[in-house]
Amino acid sequence: MLTKMDSNETPRVELSVVAPMFNEAENLDYFFERLNGALKKLGVTYEIVCVNDGSRDGTFAGLLAHREKNPAIKVVDLSRNFGKDIALTAGIDHAKGAAVIPIDSDLQDPPELIEEMVKQWRAGFEVVYATRRSRQGEGIFKRVTAYLFYKLFDSMSDVKMPRNTGDFRLMDRKAVDALMRMPERNRFMKGLFAWVGFKQTAVMYDREKRHAGTTKWNYWKLWNFALDGITGFSSIPLRVWTYVGTFVSFCAFLYALFLIVLKIVYGNNVAGYPSLMVAVLFLGGIQLITLGVLGEYMARIYNEVKGRPLYLVRDKHGC
Ligand code: UDP
Ligand code: MG
Repeated sequence: MLTKMDSNETPRVELSVVAPMFNEAENLDYFFERLNGALKKLGVTYEIVCVNDGSRDGTFAGLLAHREKNPAIKVVDLSRNFGKDIALTAGIDHAKGAAVIPIDSDLQDPPELIEEMVKQWRAGFEVVYATRRSRQGEGIFKRVTAYLFYKLFDSMSDVKMPRNTGDFRLMDRKAVDALMRMPERNRFMKGLFAWVGFKQTAVMYDREKRHAGTTKWNYWKLWNFALDGITGFSSIPLRVWTYVGTFVSFCAFLYALFLIVLKIVYGNNVAGYPSLMVAVLFLGGIQLITLGVLGEYMARIYNEVKGRPLYLVRDKHGC
């Protein structure tokens, strides 16, 4: 809490914990209980910046009630639901601390880990990210797709993204300021966090199940999230078609040679309807995929070019 204050100096907040919240009313009491417990033990000044991401349940009222009891809790109320990554950005924009810690408000990120993060920060690391040792409550399909995504991302992008790591981490002010200089609307936070670099280290933890409520993710959203990640950090999907096209043309050229030889040796036999169909469909397919990939990038360029604000704030309490 903001008690360590010199008489005529504005308080310097050491830790800002940033929690995006979308319909998390059931989790609030337990979340603040555990988070406050963990933070008080550290004996540092702190603030908890909660972003209400257009919740339709009692989250906002709950936040204000908690703020009454604990003024270290600050609330940024967004005008509607913008999605987790943008809500998180809004929170980070409003955080004042010398270090900023994004955390999920469903207790999947254990607040007790902050102590270890702060230790590493004090030891000189500028980014301390929390890596999952285990993924409880996640099916085999989720694990396999996550694994494949990381593999694909690694092979396509220069950014080294740590595995099994979410948004839960501690970032020094330097890294936070760097992050805030990235204006893009496509906010694939994990990638952006990795992109800024700085001296990084990991702390390990076991990811628990959600305390209450349900996840806001489904496979369609995850698929689009993966597309955001790849298109945001790699241009290989755009450029690969030059090579695919060259290769296909080369094969077509060889096939043409082969047909000419066949004609000279055996004369004209008009068989070949199946191979014609295969070639037409194959090339048609490739062209549609190419157009689709162009579309993915173009839609994102369009999004950026419009230059709309990333989020709109209805009200701030304490920020
Ligand atoms: N969240 C948010 N806006 C959204 C979806 C989620 O602010 O549109 C918050 C949510 O309240 C939680 C965090 O993001 O604090 C993680 O969400 P969730 O637990 O649904 O994701 P998962 O842990 O399953 O990846
Ligand atoms: Mg969760």
